[in-house]
Amino acid sequence: MTPSTFSENTVDPHQLVEELRPAVAGDLIVATDPGYDDARRVWNGMIDRRPLLVVRAGTESDIAPTLAIARRYRLPLAVRGGGHNVAGNGTVDAGIVLDLSALNTVEVDPDSRSVRAQAGATMADIDRATEVYGLAVPLGVVSATGVAGLTLGGGVGWLTRAYGLTADNLLSAEMITVAGETVRASDTENPDLFWGLRGGGGNFGVVSSFTFRAHPLPARLVTGNFVYPRQHWAATLAAYEEWTLDLPDELTSILSVLVPPPAMGLGSEPLMLLGFVWTGADAGEGRQVIDRMRRAAPPAIEVDEPVPWTAWQSAVDGMFPKGVRGYWRNTSFDRIDPAVIETVLRRGGEQTWFGTGFDIHHMGGAFGRVPEDATPFPNRGARFWLNIYGFWTDPADDAERVAFVRGFGTEMEALGSGGRYLNFLGAEAGSDPVAQALAVYGPAKLERLAALKRVYDPENLLRLNHNIPVMIAGSGATGDTD
Ligand SMILES: Cc1cc2nc3c(=O)[nH]c(=O)nc-3n(C[C@H](O)[C@H](O)[C@H](O)COP(=O)(O)OP(=O)(O)OC[C@H]3O[C@@H](n4cnc5c(N)ncnc54)[C@H](O)[C@@H]3O)c2cc1C
Repeated sequence: MTPSTFSENTVDPHQLVEELRPAVAGDLIVATDPGYDDARRVWNGMIDRRPLLVVRAGTESDIAPTLAIARRYRLPLAVRGGGHNVAGNGTVDAGIVLDLSALNTVEVDPDSRSVRAQAGATMADIDRATEVYGLAVPLGVVSATGVAGLTLGGGVGWLTRAYGLTADNLLSAEMITVAGETVRASDTENPDLFWGLRGGGGNFGVVSSFTFRAHPLPARLVTGNFVYPRQHWAATLAAYEEWTLDLPDELTSILSVLVPPPAMGLGSEPLMLLGFVWTGADAGEGRQVIDRMRRAAPPAIEVDEPVPWTAWQSAVDGMFPKGVRGYWRNTSFDRIDPAVIETVLRRGGEQTWFGTGFDIHHMGGAFGRVPEDATPFPNRGARFWLNIYGFWTDPADDAERVAFVRGFGTEMEALGSGGRYLNFLGAEAGSDPVAQALAVYGPAKLERLAALKRVYDPENLLRLNHNIPVMIAGSGATGDTD
């Protein structure tokens, strides 16, 4: 692409480079640079945007000048950590991308069991650093996921019942405001901002580092998968409902339906998989708990072996390669009753291609004991969270695959108990941002988030995200939706 392609813009990207160069240590990449196509890409291959400039930050002090130039030229700014955002918010047309992925230093203090991670760290960076000390931070389930987006949205994974969301384990964060100031947020410093950062997304500033609480884990964990063919799904769902009624916190499980990857050699029919992790010190107790499910719903195949934490955390990475096309929906629900079973059986049976799948996360435990108003994350009371993750490779399949996920999501929402988890949401072009934010947070939390937005980002510079409108209905105006 030549600079003349930008004729619709009044800003010359080379001028941006010239102005930023003295202030920025990292790479400044424009369309004429060889690395541009790689630099503009995010995980979701459906998102094909052409930024004017990608700033690949080399130090944390590259953040403030990038914010300043975006404000000066009134350019949209996309902030990127791991680039895994399903809605594709980590890139932008005709604006600036601030890519923090090179800032991925992780420091572990084993005495205080705290972990400081720069904002470009991935889950793998944290897991590798903490495992050495027999510690872990609750994160997600695919190791290339960025810690920044994960934490700011919530963070659901294999330690959710034992220790809560990633955001529940955040001790403090350092953030650069849109005005270029560094602020700290914790229980005692800017507590309102700290509240907003634990589920409100990237709406308030650019976080440069996060400090987390870590937890001890056995060197090898009792983990595994039970596999069920279609004729056993109804009985397995009913058994799962019963089993999950009184599980100890140490047991987190996810019940999935998907067509297995061809490399697994398990055929091309969709299968139900029950994945589980026992985090307690007493492996025997964990095995007894898991045996109860094994007896209630005997699996056709089982893999049940103690593994190191990092091995488990990266076990499904290969199923989610960068560049696949993606659209996701999610909802919470409280019972696996006959209506849920009927919907899951029917929709699971329709899902005949490798790629798309869905996970039923068993919630509760430490996650459920966090008071509802302690963070913006919705519906702490939910027993289950359903994540329908559509992904595929052929653009010709876009309409059909999106329709499947959307249709299934809408059906389950009607059976659900409220709230949407923003990190499990795909792009909803053209829909009202206030309505979207209300569907995630409900009115009381959204009002509190909007008040924070007015303090920290009143011009809505940070709008490439699941946007918190500056003003919400009833306050007289709506947010800038771009
Ligand atoms: C394959 C895959 C697996 C996933 N698994 C899980 C899972 O197990 N559990 C779970 O909870 N979620 C999961 N997710 C969802 C994931 O949490 C979100 O997609 C999250 O946004 C990814 O964060 P990121 O930093 O990689 O994304 P990015 O696209 O880099 O960033 C996402 C958004 O976060 C904001 N942001 C990023 N960095 C900063 C910063 N430093 N300061 C301020 N704002 C910032 C921006 O608004 C940005 O648009 C998964 C996603 C994928 C694609």
